Amino acid sequence: MNNNHNKTNSKNSNYLVEVDRSKCIGAATCVALAPKTFKLDQDQIAEVISQENDNNQDKLLAAQSCPSSAIRLIDRRTKKVVWPKSS
Ligand code: SF4
Repeated sequence: MNNNHNKTNSKNSNYLVEVDRSKCIGAATCVALAPKTFKLDQDQIAEVISQENDNNQDKLLAAQSCPSSAIRLIDRRTKKVVWPKSS
């Protein structure tokens, strides 16, 4: 059941997800780890289907697990890039 009484929903999903489709190799790890955020399109390339339905931890895990580093996470509040980590 969805606990949706928090209007801002920020605790669940304050990370904005982007996929660099030119880097994606269709490994689908992201789909396995955050299935409400990612899906593969007909060309087997990942696309973002929602920003709201997986929590930050799952999104981060998906980004970290992407073998081609195609996923970027941005904190909506601070606008900082959460992943990939800048050195
Ligand atoms: S894990 Fe990375 S390479 Fe695999 S489908 Fe997702 S974005 Fe593409």
